[in-house]
Amino acid sequence: MKPFDYVRPNDAAGAAGAAAKGATFIAGGTNLLDLMKLEIMTPDRLVDINRLDMTEISERENGGVRIGALATNSDCAANPVIRRDYAVLARAILAGASGQLRNKATTGGNLCQRTRCYFFYDPAMPCNKREPGSGCRAKDGFNRIHAILGASESCIATYPGDMAVAMTALDAEVEILTANSEIRTLPVADFHRCPGDQPQKDNVLEPGDLITAVTLPPPVQGRHIYRKVRDRSSYAFALVSVAAVIRVESKMIAHAALAFGGLAHKPWRDAAVEKALTGQAPSLALFDKAADILLSDAKGQGDNDFKIPLTRRTLTAVLAEACGMEAPA
Ligand code: SF4
Repeated sequence: MKPFDYVRPNDAAGAAGAAAKGATFIAGGTNLLDLMKLEIMTPDRLVDINRLDMTEISERENGGVRIGALATNSDCAANPVIRRDYAVLARAILAGASGQLRNKATTGGNLCQRTRCYFFYDPAMPCNKREPGSGCRAKDGFNRIHAILGASESCIATYPGDMAVAMTALDAEVEILTANSEIRTLPVADFHRCPGDQPQKDNVLEPGDLITAVTLPPPVQGRHIYRKVRDRSSYAFALVSVAAVIRVESKMIAHAALAFGGLAHKPWRDAAVEKALTGQAPSLALFDKAADILLSDAKGQGDNDFKIPLTRRTLTAVLAEACGMEAPA
């Protein structure tokens, strides 16, 4: 591992200031330490934020919830308010990683985890995300876990997380302290980015930006479902996942919020899919139409072509469950 400086500030402003010149924050370190050992990431300076007072999960006056950036994934998934009112989030977190990792992984760190593209982790392979301009080995290599939506000529990687997929469906917001001590907030849906011609940038954080919290709006009544399709039943990343909050009233879909994991460089949300469902009577034909809209621009890369029909089937199964219908076999 390459040598690095290490600082451990006592407050958030000190941490953001210490990182303004390009240092890297470390909290749980569940992804970062692997990347450093492999010398995929070689920060000159680590800013350890574990002493900062950001572990609290609290109810807000507006009826929502604020999750401190250092709240662990285990604590978040076990929180009684989150389990009761934001069950899709608790379920998504519990679908990720292992118990040991969830005990260490933090809310802010989970948002920042990097792709699990095999070639990103292999310094012998060309990878535009690791080394801009070097090429993308996945495009003509084994690409079973890669993107079918939102990819670019430069990169076809997927965002690997579960937590942010549920947060996207819940209209959560990320709270960020900038190096200039300003607070800015943005929807989780806008936090990650498509690769475009800058695949080295996973998200919209600027140097020195410190995630301080994620806020959830007041809860929406409805069925909360997180379905994750993966190669084995635990400790595996999603091939396809669907986070859904669906409410049916008077035999009509009154509310539909859907986000997808495993499909793109970011949690994927498509307003047109939700619009097509809302106000309609649930039926398999309607679900098929929603899948048509979702997948209208989907493009397989070869080994991952199966994700297109798999996404259709998974979406149909989730919608059928949410609406109390039998899913097709
Ligand atoms: Fe690198 Fe992205 Fe290509 Fe994977 S898909 S090799 S992360 S550029």
